[in-house]
Amino acid sequence: MDNKMSCIVCGQENPGGLVIRDKYICPACEDKIVALTVDHPDYNLIKESLKQIWFGADIESADSQVVK
Ligand SMILES: [Zn+2]
Repeated sequence: MDNKMSCIVCGQENPGGLVIRDKYICPACEDKIVALTVDHPDYNLIKESLKQIWFGADIESADSQVVK
């Protein structure tokens, strides 16, 4: 079983990494996420990419979590 997946953050296919809810994150981006801070230059890119995971499977509850 070796179906190739593209990283949802950088779009590359690399060995290793993780798959969460059928979304693949490569090792380099996994490291970025672990070390991510709000002032990181890639923060918004990574945050948007992660939304695909967190909200991809449970769309109906996504809006109720937003506090403005
Ligand atoms: Zn990546």
